[in-house]
Amino acid sequence: MRIVLVGPPGAGKGTQAAYLAKNLSIPHISTGDLFRANISQGTPLGKQAQEFMKAGELVPDEVTVGMAKDRMSQADAAEGFLLDGFPRNLDQAKALDEILAAQDITLDGVLDLEVPEDEVVKRIAGRRTCRSNSAHTYHVEYKKPKTDGVCDECGGELYQREDDREETVRKRLEVYHRETEPIIDYYRGQGLVVTISALGKVAEVTERAMAALD
Ligand code: ADP
Ligand code: ADP
Ligand code: ADP
Repeated sequence: MRIVLVGPPGAGKGTQAAYLAKNLSIPHISTGDLFRANISQGTPLGKQAQEFMKAGELVPDEVTVGMAKDRMSQADAAEGFLLDGFPRNLDQAKALDEILAAQDITLDGVLDLEVPEDEVVKRIAGRRTCRSNSAHTYHVEYKKPKTDGVCDECGGELYQREDDREETVRKRLEVYHRETEPIIDYYRGQGLVVTISALGKVAEVTERAMAALD
């Protein structure tokens, strides 16, 4: 299966993607996680992305599309993948269509996670992320780690992402509405979109998502 996950920052894309990828036996590809890994390793790609991320803006398409294409071409993604955070604007959606068309493959679905803005703000404000692997996320109220400040999965240190601070969150939401939301209509035109509510317990949302993708 080839699936795109969309939804505002804090909707629970990363959280759901981890479970869905496991259930569907496909890799979870998050461009945000790829950028953060590059930043922590100090790669040239990370250096290119850093300032944009800090400001809550999109990293330029030239950098992003190449990185996503590179990741999708790895062996584990040959039979399918779950894209989280890519594409994030119309040009990226069109670039993805071209990448897939060149290999004679198509998307199976676009899962749109719907959450009211006040809930998104609460989720992001309380999000804590693992320094060793940003796919490992927690929440100060909704998903506490067993030991304060320590990642259950790998023992890494938990911290608040710089772009999860309030000023930057507002900017990211604005960017989401302006740049990312239009891709939902684009994919609707291709008959690919299923929208589900991302409210409720994590497991409930996963069940809803699995049913919607069936
Ligand atoms: P996204 O990848 O869309 O930005 P995350 O998956 O990182 O979102 O989730 C944002 C925050 O909300 C995290 O702290 C996560 O633990 C928490 N979260 C995710 N899903 C739920 C849920 N169903 N209920 C409450 N909190 C959630
Ligand atoms: P969230 O899960 O909260 O939506 P992400 O980890 O997906 O956040 O993204 C964090 C930041 O990484 C974005 O604000 C943006 O700067 C950058 N980023 C991630 N994916 C893309 C993309 N497809 N295009 C451009 N920038 C991206
Ligand atoms: P380094 O050259 O030190 O290994 P890079 O930042 O160039 O680090 O690359 C990190 C990862 O991102 C590599 O897997 C690389 O293939 C990929 N990458 C970097 N820049 C691009 C780009 N513009 N287009 C496609 N993939 C890229």
